Amino acid sequence: MEAPSTKQQEFTLASVTDLSSSSSSSSSSPVKATFSCVGEVTELRFQESESAHGFSFDLRSTQLFKLGPLQFVCVTDSSGSVKEDSFSRGVVIKFSDEKESKEFCDSFEEWRKDSVGKGSSLPNGEVSESKSKFDDKIEPASAKMYFHYYGQLLHQQNMLQDYVRTGTYHAAVMENRSDFAGRVVVDVGAGSGILSMFAALAGAKHVYAVEASEMADYARKLIAGNPLLAERITVIKGKIEDIELPEKADVLISEPMGTLLVNERMLETYVIARDRFLSPNGKMFPTVGRIHMAPFSDEFLFVEMANKALFWQQQNYYGVDLTPLYASAHQGYFSQPVVDAFDPRLLVAPPMFHVIDFTQMKEEQFYEIDVPLKFTASVCGRVHGLACWFDVLFDGSTVQRWFTTAPGAPTTHWYQIRCVLSQPIHVMAGQELTGRLHLVAHSAQSYTINLTLSAKMWGPGANQGGILQTSSCKLDLKEPYYRMSQPQVYPVAQEPPAQPQDIQIQSDDLEEIELLQQNANAQL
Ligand code: SAH
Repeated sequence: MEAPSTKQQEFTLASVTDLSSSSSSSSSSPVKATFSCVGEVTELRFQESESAHGFSFDLRSTQLFKLGPLQFVCVTDSSGSVKEDSFSRGVVIKFSDEKESKEFCDSFEEWRKDSVGKGSSLPNGEVSESKSKFDDKIEPASAKMYFHYYGQLLHQQNMLQDYVRTGTYHAAVMENRSDFAGRVVVDVGAGSGILSMFAALAGAKHVYAVEASEMADYARKLIAGNPLLAERITVIKGKIEDIELPEKADVLISEPMGTLLVNERMLETYVIARDRFLSPNGKMFPTVGRIHMAPFSDEFLFVEMANKALFWQQQNYYGVDLTPLYASAHQGYFSQPVVDAFDPRLLVAPPMFHVIDFTQMKEEQFYEIDVPLKFTASVCGRVHGLACWFDVLFDGSTVQRWFTTAPGAPTTHWYQIRCVLSQPIHVMAGQELTGRLHLVAHSAQSYTINLTLSAKMWGPGANQGGILQTSSCKLDLKEPYYRMSQPQVYPVAQEPPAQPQDIQIQSDDLEEIELLQQNANAQL
């Protein structure tokens, strides 16, 4: 909601009783309550009409509680933090009519929102003193766990040991030295500081390594142990959304990708960094991301998932009937996206992709991502769901390098992800599959996935009714089923798709399609 456009708004109260004073003094004459913006501070001022006596509450640290239709308690923590020597102040305020009371309440919310920087009046990236853009949309419990995770060396090691990942970043930087040499670089979510050091190795003039977790301290230590690089790297501990930098950057480097590209919601941080710190025409490494999708058929996986819930079909578990929870358990398993590396021969149609351009996307555009789906089955079989993976492009001035997590390509720690339908769909070769992948961001740094796939009826009679087979599922990207125990068999003859070296982003998919068709033919 927009903040009120007026710089001041006034209400008349029937009375104000100060709870903080020992005598609980009450006003004798009507009191004016005025919302206003004084410099940077939005305040609510109470003033007796007949006297100069008054006091103000800073709205950033003020709360309003409703006691009745005409009565409220207004409490402020004047210092903004609960220190030993500071006390909260509270007043009971009364109105003479309900209309005035309601209007006051609505205005309070609007002015308060404005004061904590929620209103659109704050330009993107401006730091508000109380709550940051990050805190506004992410649950504190989620953020705490998230940064605790990244604060541990073992998880940074896991990423560093993903040689496909780290090696591709290294190559993308080193092949594009001219983009880094003599430039100011910001490493968005620096972790151990590895990408900052790559940038310094490529000749960066200065690198700001921004890291919010405790890993920032380890990064300082690691960087200090590499003295030739250390003199050109500054580690800043804090969130991208909150910190300030002394200068603009020529280049942003980051590894903000999660499962299905968007998990962890760090791409939002990446584009906030772009808006706050990147100079116009600056470069972003990576530049573009794509989510690839294709329907798959995997009877083993389907049976494995369905079987998990069978436990709840026991009618005599130590004398207890478990069946009342069977349906919920079944639904629970099918709301988990499956993460593993699968054989690309399981795909039943050539993949399609959805482009996310990091140089153009607005932060808000990540809140809801809607992808219409359309495939043509190249084989006959049961479709068990949608398989997804991603790739990103480093659009360097010298070399354009893709990093892919596709099935059949060298496996990364992201593997691939599959959304499994509890009702499979039958398709024939040549049949069209349509649907929708709808991703809705949530405050636990992840997404709710809504998937629908439909196939028009095939064969005799199909023209008359146009009957649809439709199947849908709702999954939580935050709760994946990591299914890495199954050894994956790859065909010996199958080479991973070649890495395209240019931005003609159709080319690698054409290869995938050819590959798929060859495989499909081989299977028939
Ligand atoms: N760049 C490192 C680490 C990548 S993991 C590498 O490539 O190895 C992502 C890192 O970003 C984590 O360490 C995480 O703590 C950090 N991060 C995530 N969101 C952030 C934010 N809003 N501000 C600062 N750091 C953030």
